Amino acid sequence: MSQAIWMNGELVAYEDAKVHVLTHALHYGTSVFEGVRAYELPDGGTAVFRHQDHIDRLFRSAGLYHMEIPYSKDQIRAATFETITANALKSCYIRPLVFRGAGPMGLYPLDCPVDVMIAVWEWGAYLGDEGKVGGVRAKVSSWRRIPSDALIPTAKAGGQYLNSILAKIEADKAGYEEAILLDTRGYVCEGTGENLFLIKDGKVVTPGFANDILEGINRAAAIEILRDQGYDVVERDIARGELYRADEIFMTGTAAELTPIREVDDLAVGDGTRGPITAEIQAIFEDALHGRSERYSRWLDKVPAA
Ligand code: PMP
Repeated sequence: MSQAIWMNGELVAYEDAKVHVLTHALHYGTSVFEGVRAYELPDGGTAVFRHQDHIDRLFRSAGLYHMEIPYSKDQIRAATFETITANALKSCYIRPLVFRGAGPMGLYPLDCPVDVMIAVWEWGAYLGDEGKVGGVRAKVSSWRRIPSDALIPTAKAGGQYLNSILAKIEADKAGYEEAILLDTRGYVCEGTGENLFLIKDGKVVTPGFANDILEGINRAAAIEILRDQGYDVVERDIARGELYRADEIFMTGTAAELTPIREVDDLAVGDGTRGPITAEIQAIFEDALHGRSERYSRWLDKVPAA
């Protein structure tokens, strides 16, 4: 875990990065956050992957829940660099969190302060290194993805994750590595923290915004790579049954990176191994993350040398 955590404008020691028990977000989930990753580059430096996209989404999420972040986007970017450098990490996961702090209780939050923290830590492949090669087993969840007439699926907000957490616990207790949530209309939506892609006969489909997905930054990267490689990618409603006849399925997310799914509901996807298109896109994606790709070098925001 972090040695130093950035809290409201300054770096503080891990032990001192504390909040009051009457922190509004603790009671009602009034927070927004990001999951970001930085990778070591071949030259020994470090770069944050699609940094500006994450910062933009953090500010968008905050705005959707009427939180004004008391820092500029440039200040958050600089604070992230400062935190990575202070912790002397070459590769890390980055967690910026914007939350309603201690103030009046009750559901009206706008009189509570808006606090900001950024923590970084080393975090390996979220669904395991073997999962990235051999694929993971997923289960269609009995929990539906939060609909946009109840919450705001395009926001990455703390309270909303109780939905993902229920699905994750259910999948884990049933012996699966990940859950696939359907939207309220019964169409395929996403994993608990990943977007989904299905491949059938060389064509790629992925759920769209009408399916209440979170607008994944790695989803956008995968779509761009797929199209650059000449694949047709269509965003559309995907019936649950299509999961069982896909040749390949993979997930994208900052934590999970690009991970194949080898089984859904105990049925093998394709031949039950990582498929050829998944392998092709994953290799290019990994090169992009780790600074080995010239084509996608614009996705990397280098941490300035200390
Ligand atoms: N869906 C949900 C619910 C998520 O939490 C995440 C992770 N942020 C994603 C999709 C993937 O988004 P990204 O590629 O931006 O990490």
